[in-house]
Amino acid sequence: MANAITLAKTFIPILDKIYKQASLTSVLDGNPELVRQGASYNEMIIPKISMQGLALKNVTLRLKNAKGKVVFEEFGELLFTHFGLSGPIVLSASAHMGRKGEAFTVDLDLKPALDEKKLDARILRDFQKYANRDFKNALYDLAGHAMIPVLVRLSGIPEDTKVNVITREQRHRLVELFKHFPVSVTGTRPIDEAIVTSGGVKVGEIDPKTMASKKIEGLYFAGEIIDVDAYTGGYNLQIAWATGKAAGEAAADALHAE
Ligand SMILES: Cc1cc2nc3c(=O)[nH]c(=O)nc-3n(C[C@H](O)[C@H](O)[C@H](O)COP(=O)(O)OP(=O)(O)OC[C@H]3O[C@@H](n4cnc5c(N)ncnc54)[C@H](O)[C@@H]3O)c2cc1C
Repeated sequence: MANAITLAKTFIPILDKIYKQASLTSVLDGNPELVRQGASYNEMIIPKISMQGLALKNVTLRLKNAKGKVVFEEFGELLFTHFGLSGPIVLSASAHMGRKGEAFTVDLDLKPALDEKKLDARILRDFQKYANRDFKNALYDLAGHAMIPVLVRLSGIPEDTKVNVITREQRHRLVELFKHFPVSVTGTRPIDEAIVTSGGVKVGEIDPKTMASKKIEGLYFAGEIIDVDAYTGGYNLQIAWATGKAAGEAAADALHAE
């Protein structure tokens, strides 16, 4: 599908529009400084993440801006990759990241079905069940294997601590970690991996019935070139098909009318 029936030089600047819904490059220890130091993502991040390939279903993602305000929250599925985070809720979150290079943090609720109190009781039950185990071997009922070393490290509880000596405060820190697992966002993936574009020709300059430009006669728009974008899930395809049909038919009618 072509973006527009005709492209005119006048519209070349809109190709500068940014691409928003992309996966996120991230570090998992809340320390974006590592990436700012200039080392390549591959060298710096991969050794820190042992969760590559891990898919999490039924988690809640909260995207927070630099002031700590939640700008997006969604329940669903995400994926840890070699570069950071991906998956449906991550793509949607990236649409809320703006254009100004603002810093964002992802806060994951790994147990959204349990509030703090219920989760604490659940952890306590597991700790009683595995009372003589080391901490690192007592989380298998609560988290996937790949996540356990990361949870152990971030909890601050030494991995070989016997579960029966873990204090209430330490347990509460663990609860906090399950409910607010921190991921620093260092940026989105490059444009060539983007899924949906943001920005483009202003909708106010397009006749919504024919998709004809209100400014340039004989010019029609469809799809991504228009300043509309939506979450993935078919909405962008629907936009492309619906506007493509309208623009194509109107352009053909205009040609026949000549
Ligand atoms: C990996 C991926 C997954 C996606 N998943 C979803 C999804 O699940 N749900 C959803 O709603 N959307 C999804 N999208 C977005 C959706 O595919 C796009 O919004 C939609 O295809 C846009 O249609 P379009 O016709 O505007 O542009 P495009 O489909 O990008 O078509 C533009 C066409 O123009 C051609 N072209 C570009 N420049 C020139 C030129 N100078 N001369 C001639 N031809 C040119 C290109 O080669 C291309 O074929 C996804 C996109 C990607 C990349």
